[in-house]
Amino acid sequence: MKEDVRDTLVFDMKDLRHEDFKTFEARVSPASLGLNYEEVEFIKPVSCAVQLFRQGNDNVYVAADIETKMSVECRRCIHPFEANITTTFALLFAVGNETLRQKEADEHYYDGETLDISENVRQGLILEIPAWPLCSEMCKGLCTECGAELNHEACSCATPDEPAVAAANPFSVLSKMLENN
Ligand SMILES: [Zn+2]
Ligand SMILES: [Zn+2]
Repeated sequence: MKEDVRDTLVFDMKDLRHEDFKTFEARVSPASLGLNYEEVEFIKPVSCAVQLFRQGNDNVYVAADIETKMSVECRRCIHPFEANITTTFALLFAVGNETLRQKEADEHYYDGETLDISENVRQGLILEIPAWPLCSEMCKGLCTECGAELNHEACSCATPDEPAVAAANPFSVLSKMLENN
């Protein structure tokens, strides 16, 4: 039987004995992870499948599959669209206090009693937010001249791709004047 879905990403390590391996399902609100942004709205709870493995006495190996959904504005057509975000990580936590150490980027610590992966999940999701979100690679966006939504309608403005009307060549004007004399 599957275990209940947890509502926290904080794990009590007393439940995980030497060489124990356990899996958990967790579902937490994006707000509880501090995922509050103006430009990106997280519209589904963050679902995590978490595997914990106690290696040796204190080291805990954590693997997580994480999934949620966001609503974000397309950079081209400025319409909001929804997209799934998924990420995974596999990290080794050692007992210690990261604020008291010269922390290496890939070292992770917990206090030996409780292990909180909220921040790791938050950072993993943030890294998956595209810097330049597009509703579709094919999105035509808005006309820069008249603002028409080019996904839905064509407009009669010259597109930047069309060659600009050739500027009058001063020499051709001069040669015309000479012809007329
Ligand atoms: Zn778009
Ligand atoms: Zn236009």
